[in-house]
Amino acid sequence: RQSCSARPGLVTATDAVNYWKKVFETNGIPEARESSEYIVSFVLGAKTFQSLNSKSLYTPLTALQQEQIQQLSNKRLERMPVQYVLGEWDFQDLTLKMRPPVFIPRPETEDLVSLVVEEESWKCEKNSDLCFPVSVPHPVILEIGCGSGAISLSLLCKLPQSQVIAVDKEKTAVDLTRENAHRLQLQDRIHILHHDVSLSSAKQLLLWGPLDFIVSNPPYVFHEDMASLDAEILCYENLDALDGGDDGLRVIKTILALAPSLLKDSGSVFLEVDHRHPDMVENWLQAHPNLLLVLRAIHKDFCGKPRFLHIQKQSR
Ligand code: GLN
Repeated sequence: RQSCSARPGLVTATDAVNYWKKVFETNGIPEARESSEYIVSFVLGAKTFQSLNSKSLYTPLTALQQEQIQQLSNKRLERMPVQYVLGEWDFQDLTLKMRPPVFIPRPETEDLVSLVVEEESWKCEKNSDLCFPVSVPHPVILEIGCGSGAISLSLLCKLPQSQVIAVDKEKTAVDLTRENAHRLQLQDRIHILHHDVSLSSAKQLLLWGPLDFIVSNPPYVFHEDMASLDAEILCYENLDALDGGDDGLRVIKTILALAPSLLKDSGSVFLEVDHRHPDMVENWLQAHPNLLLVLRAIHKDFCGKPRFLHIQKQSR
């Protein structure tokens, strides 16, 4: 590939961003500017291009930096998602290792974490109003389909009393969650299981006692919509983490059928779903009254689409 400037040695970060942005555009790579900015700032040790000061922007890059930028950009030219190209990505306040084919956490899922945290804070407040002892029971949380560990590890940070059980059916995901947990020194409060959740999972998942919360960003894409996903997803991510079957509800139904035997009374399930799912899930719950689950709330994502469900177990 040609060098990124006619003046080798005098290529600045700004030159490199402009050069690779053009190359990406010419090759039909989506988010050309963002991609080149992320790659160049990563090589310069910064999170964002905007955070580089003017000195770093206009100091000539070293030959090694130019070489690194070129290598990473070549991966992006093969439609590798920038998160895998960099090998790390931020979720809430955490920087997590990323590698294919483990599902890349999406920004909207940060709100799923916040919903669990809000519910737990609200429960604690309610208990203290009722003059409960100060030591509220530590919440025990199960995450189904933990991927890189983004949701579980954020919850551990936001809820310092919590314990999390994180399960995934993919060994690659379990390994990455474990690695991220160690890097963040959260390994003592997380139990990571290589496990494919089914209706017979209760015994194994109840080892830590009845749960306060089940949280999941399950595969929920309708099977017929899978083919129209971006090449970045189709070529690099584990599609089982996205494909929810014909109605997108395959895994969601398993989680809901299992939930009553895992949750404490009044325990909650928080799910990320497709915008068409809230009505479908509500109808399904009404058709299965024996599960004693009630749809408590539907929350929208930052684009205004219904995206998160809060479902609660009733006491008998
Ligand atoms: N919103 C995701 C996407 O299409 C789908 C996530 C999922 O199935 N859990 O990128």
